[in-house]
Amino acid sequence: MSHNVIIVGSGPAGYTAALYAGRAGLQPLVFTGPEPGGQLMITTDVENYPGFPEGIMGPDMMELFQKQAERFGTEVRQQLVVRVDLSARPFKLWTGAEMYEAKTVIISTGASAKWIGIEGEKTFGGFGVSACATCDGFFFRGKEVVVVGGGDTAMEEANYLTRHASKVTVVHRRDHLRASKIMQQRALDNPKIEFVWNAVVSDIHGDMEPHKKVTGLTLSSTVKDKKWEMPADGLFVAIGHQPNSSVFTDWVDTDELGYIKVEPFSTRTKVPGVFACGDVTDRTYRQAVTAAGSGCMAAIDAERFLEAEGH
Ligand code: NAP
Repeated sequence: MSHNVIIVGSGPAGYTAALYAGRAGLQPLVFTGPEPGGQLMITTDVENYPGFPEGIMGPDMMELFQKQAERFGTEVRQQLVVRVDLSARPFKLWTGAEMYEAKTVIISTGASAKWIGIEGEKTFGGFGVSACATCDGFFFRGKEVVVVGGGDTAMEEANYLTRHASKVTVVHRRDHLRASKIMQQRALDNPKIEFVWNAVVSDIHGDMEPHKKVTGLTLSSTVKDKKWEMPADGLFVAIGHQPNSSVFTDWVDTDELGYIKVEPFSTRTKVPGVFACGDVTDRTYRQAVTAAGSGCMAAIDAERFLEAEGH
């Protein structure tokens, strides 16, 4: 059986595409991927999604997105698409040994947290090194932690961590922040947050016995030839994201950072019948609301494509 539309990814873009495709009677199938619900599952308060004047927790919002999509006939499977063949229609998608066929595909695989690329991230990952304050902040009650980054994510992580940690130090490679003014101000005004400017974390130290844990960091200046040690119980890396496009790069065009290219003002990739939306296509805005908007566009594009093909 060939599905009308298979949606790969389950963040705001994927579920909005599913909602629209479902309401168009296309019975969409959504593969959630490795992070069901996408990046909002690891965020706290979402204050900038219209319609929630008091804000809403990211995971609660994604539950609502999923429910709304399912209400109109979307099938959601917690599976990861590991391989695709987009050379001919119906398109083929594999989730391990199982193969699925689709008349149209909507790629909404989002983006994932980036890492600094130092050895200690692997050694102490899950043992003091994290990219998700909401997931792991609780383990740092009364402890001192470092957040790396100068964007909105870093400010959000730092603010959140002050609920648990006794002190949060933001280490940023430049002398001013990239984050939006309101997020910056909140962090700058927070008495538990300190800033170290013009520095990067170049090494992570810790104990392996009796329990693996982080005890300190080496910081390197980005403006002087200088390194120094800093005690820390945890490191939160918040330096941005990379698009999850690797499964598709043999078939669709991507830019030099791996973001899938779509035609302007549409979600069409270079493969007719394959559409892309959300953060996997967006290096500029990367907001829940813009992802949702482009998910809507992808479903409409897929519906019109099927109609034009006589399905
Ligand atoms: P971002 O805006 O790209 O910021 C990444 C930060 O990490 C930058 O400050 C960057 O430094 C730094 N960085 C990058 N690579 C680094 C490295 N190897 N070592 C050290 N530092 C490094 O990413 P983001 O903060 O994840 O935000 C992404 C998007 O999501 C933005 O559009 C943001 O507005 C949005 N967002 C919104 C909210 C909200 O409104 N509640 C929350 C989170 C994210 P430079 O500044 O020097 O480049």
